[in-house]
This record gives sequence, structure tokens and C-alpha cells, in this order.
Amino acid sequence: MPAPSVESKAISPRNVLMLRLSIVVGGILIALFMIGDLQLLPPGLADAYITNRVLIQLPILGGLLAFTFFPQFLQFAQAAFLVTVLSITYANYYMIHLAWEQAAFSFPYEGTLLYAFFGFFVFGMTFRYALITMLLSSLGFVGLMLLDFVYGERTWMNAGFVAGSLFIGVIGRYRIDQLLEQLEDANAQLVDLSTEDGLTELLNRRALRSESERFFALQQRSNQRLAVFMMDLDHFKQFNDRYGHQKGDWAIRIQADIMRQIFKRQTDILGRYGGEEFMAVIDAEDAGRCERLAADILSQWQQLAVPNEDSPGSRVLSCSIGICQGLASEFESMDDMIRRADEALYCAKKQGRARYVMA
Ligand code: GH3
Ligand code: MG
Ligand code: MG
Repeated sequence: MPAPSVESKAISPRNVLMLRLSIVVGGILIALFMIGDLQLLPPGLADAYITNRVLIQLPILGGLLAFTFFPQFLQFAQAAFLVTVLSITYANYYMIHLAWEQAAFSFPYEGTLLYAFFGFFVFGMTFRYALITMLLSSLGFVGLMLLDFVYGERTWMNAGFVAGSLFIGVIGRYRIDQLLEQLEDANAQLVDLSTEDGLTELLNRRALRSESERFFALQQRSNQRLAVFMMDLDHFKQFNDRYGHQKGDWAIRIQADIMRQIFKRQTDILGRYGGEEFMAVIDAEDAGRCERLAADILSQWQQLAVPNEDSPGSRVLSCSIGICQGLASEFESMDDMIRRADEALYCAKKQGRARYVMA
């Protein structure tokens, strides 16, 4: 499964509530600014200003707030942020234009920055959307300055200040996205490390336990069958002593490869139980299939014919298998099944090894 991109992670159902709250706070901020602005503005502009804020900007925020309640919101959140930020920014540009045209008043431009940064860091726009916001906001501002020379000799310095500040915001967003991606990769690696056996890349004992218990519960609920295979290499101590630990590790990896070849279903749970003991938990329609699988494992070792000269039994490496299978409801727990499979394995050892025994 491909790792989810930062884009889809940027907003999760859990923080939609937080987002709604911040939209409301944004609305309150706009309302508070209105009080201050109305004292600065020439009286003739008050109506146009109130119309702009109350009938255009606040309803746009209201629209975003309403959209968060739609099921499609998460899918289109980034596009919705973009449209929201750009439309309130352009509503602000319109106000700057009106103020200049009607009263030769230099309406402040700083709201442009506030809106963009609100989008980048409070809404959580991703880098791509932040970049589009920056380009279109800067372009709009430069266009406005060409149309109306609102800030006199400071006009182009202010335009540079707007574009520069937005650029810094976009870079900030880029760094955050990069860090989030690195964090996701590191998390995925940690999950692998905490569930995987380093030598064989099968599940480690802890993961084996949790996966098999979950599977057992699933099979119990749907009254299905399952099987537990416990496998242990025969006379492995002699193999290790004769050929060395590294060759022993190699043999352990061979057993893992054989298991991957034989237990091929996606739902099969394969793990290293400890040392040279392995476990497989599978859904098993019948005992016959389990016996066939066990026989296949034994015959793979036979075909490989790995010498184990010091073994008191047959002179090639082999494994013994204990199987416990049946309806999940017939057993108390996963531990119960493992215990029975272990007892069957013990019987296989006692009967001469290189064989399987059904519990
Ligand atoms: P049996 O047929 O009764 O199983 O005899 P055995 O000699 O295989 O006995 P046992 O199952 O107790 O074997 C344990 C040996 O497995 C001890 C140790 O030398 C070896 N072993 C356990 N873990 C590892 C490992 O990670 N690497 C290597 N190379 N050897 C291991
Ligand atoms: Mg052994
Ligand atoms: Mg053992």
C-alpha cells in the first residue's frame, strides 16, 4: 500500500473540529478589525467597507465553515482553502481600489499577508496550494498597484514587501511539508522495525502474537476454521556446532523462504517464534489442506538436502511440525491452540523428527 501523501494527511477528521473553531476565530478577527478600520476610514467609505466585510468576506468564511460539514470536504479541503483565501484577499484588493478611487484613501494592504498566513499555517494549506496562493495574491497586488498608485512613492516597496512575505510563508510551508513527510517515513520504518524479525523478515514474536490473536477473534466471530503450525528445525544445535552460527542463520532464513513459498495467501500470518522455531497461522478449510502444506514443507527440505553430518538422525537438515486446526469456537484462545500445536510438535520430535503431527 503506498504511503498516504502529506496532502491527504494535512487535514484529518480529527482536526476538522479545530479547523471549524479557527474559521470562527478568523471571522471574529475580521469583525474586530472592522471596529478599528471604521475609525480610520473617511466617513464616506464606511458603507462600502461594511458591505465588503459583512456581505462578502464574512459570508465567504461562513461558506467554508458550512462546507466542512459536507462529507466531500476532506477530499476538497485544500481547494476550498485556496478559493477562500484568494477570494477574501481579492475582496480586500477591491476595497483598496474603492478607497483609492472614491476618497483617494490609502487603505492598508497588511490584510493580504494576514489572510495568506492564516491559510498557510492555520488552515494548513500544503506547499502546492500555498504556492498558488502566493503567486495569485502577488500578481493581484501588482496588478492593483499598476491600476491605482495607492501608496505613492512607497507603492513598489509595499508590493515587494507583500510578495517577499508571502514567499517566506510558502518556504515555511515547504519545510513543514518536508518534515511531515520525513516523520511519516520514520514512523513507517519504526512500525517495520517493531513488528519484523530482522533475520528472516517474518513477523517477530510480539507481532505474531497480536496478529494471530486478532485473526483468532475474527475466525471465532464468523465461526470459521483456522490452523496453527509450530515448526522447529531438527538437531539444529549440531548443525550450528558443526557449520557455525552464520551457516545456522542462513538455514533459519531458508526455513523462512520455504514458509513464504508454501503459505502464500495474503491472510497467512508467518512469524519467527524464537531461535529456530517458527509459527504460521492460516485459515484452514479442512485438515487435508493442512497436511498437504506440512508435507510440502518437509519435501522442500528433502529436496534441498542440506547436510547435517553430526545429526544423530538423518544426515540432512529437516524440520518437525506440530499442527492444531479446527473451528475457532472449539478452542479457548489463541494460546490454547499454540499450546496444542506445541504438544503436537513435541510428539513429532519424539516420533523421530522430519515429520508432522496433527494435534
Ligand atoms: P531438536 O531437534 O530437538 O529441536 O534439537 P535442536 O538441537 O534443534 O534443539 P533446539 O530446538 O533446542 O535448538 C536450539 C538451538 O538453535 C540452539 C542454538 O544453537 C540454535 N539457535 C537458536 N537461535 C539461533 C539463531 O538465531 N541463529 C543460529 N545460528 N542458531 C540459533
Ligand atoms: Mg530444534
Ligand atoms: Mg528449538
